[in-house]
Amino acid sequence: MCGIVGYVGHRDVAGFLLEGLHRLEYRGYDSAGIAVLQNDEIKVRKKAGRVQELSSELDSNPVQSSIGIGHTRWATHGEATNENSHPHIGGNGEVVLVHNGVIENYIDLRNQLQGLGFVFKSQTDSEVIAHLLAHHLQEQVKLGEDASTKETCLKALELTTRKLNGTYGIVAMFKECSNTIICARAGSPLVIGIGKDEYFLGSDSSPLIGYTEDVVYLSDYEIAILSSDGMEIIHRDSGHQSPSIQTLKQVSADSDLGDFEHYMLKEIYEQPQSIENAMRGRLDEDEATAKFGGLNIDPQQLRKIDRIVLTACGTSWHAGLVGEYLLEEFARIPTEVEYASELRYRNPPMTDNTMVFTITQSGETADTLAAMRECKRKGHPTLAICNVVGSTIAREADGGIYLHAGPEIGVASTKAFTSQVTVLTLLALYLGRMRHLSQPAGSRIIQQLKEIPDIIRKTLKCHEAVKDISERYCHYENFLYLGRLYNFPVALEGALKLKEISYSHAEGYPAAEMKQGPIALVDEKTPSVFIVPRGNIYPKVLSNLEEIKARKGPVIAIACEGDTRIEQLADDVIYVPDVEDYLQPLVTSIPLQFLSYHIALLRGCNVDRPRNLAKSVTVE
Ligand code: GLU
Repeated sequence: MCGIVGYVGHRDVAGFLLEGLHRLEYRGYDSAGIAVLQNDEIKVRKKAGRVQELSSELDSNPVQSSIGIGHTRWATHGEATNENSHPHIGGNGEVVLVHNGVIENYIDLRNQLQGLGFVFKSQTDSEVIAHLLAHHLQEQVKLGEDASTKETCLKALELTTRKLNGTYGIVAMFKECSNTIICARAGSPLVIGIGKDEYFLGSDSSPLIGYTEDVVYLSDYEIAILSSDGMEIIHRDSGHQSPSIQTLKQVSADSDLGDFEHYMLKEIYEQPQSIENAMRGRLDEDEATAKFGGLNIDPQQLRKIDRIVLTACGTSWHAGLVGEYLLEEFARIPTEVEYASELRYRNPPMTDNTMVFTITQSGETADTLAAMRECKRKGHPTLAICNVVGSTIAREADGGIYLHAGPEIGVASTKAFTSQVTVLTLLALYLGRMRHLSQPAGSRIIQQLKEIPDIIRKTLKCHEAVKDISERYCHYENFLYLGRLYNFPVALEGALKLKEISYSHAEGYPAAEMKQGPIALVDEKTPSVFIVPRGNIYPKVLSNLEEIKARKGPVIAIACEGDTRIEQLADDVIYVPDVEDYLQPLVTSIPLQFLSYHIALLRGCNVDRPRNLAKSVTVE
């Protein structure tokens, strides 16, 4: 999942590398490090912890060069220590590299290399690549090749990659080969930015923004050589490639916290706007439907769809579950929500007219990408619902719908979730209007959707009430989150939010299903968060709430304004505006975002950078 950055050219490299690592820190923040070639010596500075730690280290121990590589780590193999931080040196210091991904056969390779006398300093899988590369370089030299040429280094990296099982984005420098960076990818993204007599590298385009707009996305099994002489791209099997240079779509890097204390809070407050952005230009009032620019699929083909598979991970999977309810209700198309990590290895029967939607904030989630590729391979049209413009999934999907939510920096997703739900509502309307949904029904949905941004503004007013309530509940270690129908996915999402940022245990369940087991957990020390807005099944959820109260479980209820009955049953009530059932997830998810935020703060947690997590999950 890590962030990779690199540069060769004429600038002072440390500044660029550090800035790039700051921009990539959302991908992992277990450690950060850089390596530069300074007077033909490899200099490495690396530190466990945040990029800020590395920055301080560089202040006291500076480097000076115009070629270098950097890495911010999300540990897969080996703890978050200085030794396990990247870059890793190989052999006797002939090579240095950074790696993103997982090497599945690292134990075998490590044993072989130790047998050859290589000494390991870390527990990472990545260090085997460094020593293997050094080994192949040494072998080339023994054959009489010159270690200072690009060709020799390329050959060594090529031989190395052929021995690796797993995924990698590798960026390497060679002590003898000045002014040259060689990188390779299989399954982990790498983007090359082209400047004037200079090259930039990133594991996504964020470090390149502001430096260049001309980029090349490296494909799997391609190796790129970047040097002051230019750029070469070689496919492992098919040889030299002519690079396809694309224009980097600049998105506003609105990463300013403004008056907010945390990105998560800022992003919660951005939701009236982000939901509006998700709808902008997509409501067709004349035809009482939605419209999309980039689906790239013929309406005739869309009419023939007889099954939809939504695939995603984490919060996006919860949005997908709301999508399933919406698509089945409005478009009457059988819909399945699949965890991408399962779908990529499963082989569920899919009809010829099955359409696959991948849902992802970052567009880089490794499992979602793999599931999408697997579905493409089987001939199904794949569409992406994605936030990050130009991300791998956005580029590889046949078509898609952007969220236009703006950068989401807090690791716990908030505005991306409500934007995903908004887009899925539009999609259900669009596919519904091609089938059974009448013109008046379509118009009614459009009118209700148009009111949503203002309703969300009103919902945000529950903040103070949630803050007070959080003080009473922050000491509990276990929570149940319960809701039914459209609020069941909201319960799952609320529980996930609490777990990821406050480290309190929480389980989301369909409210009636808790009788099948989880109710055994209920006692005075296990609060339940009930999502119980008005609607068809309000009395049923109320009965479930009574069942919890009968067992002395404290209850926080999320209920509609003006609901006086709930006050007599629940210990605490958070009021939200009353909306149609199908729009409730947009509203009821907001107090749950606030609740997790305040409980996490009161527990002294870092809400924007929770432990063990990263924003973009780019390893399997
Ligand atoms: N597997 C490598 C490690 O644990 C790289 C992880 C990453 O992609 O951040 O160091």
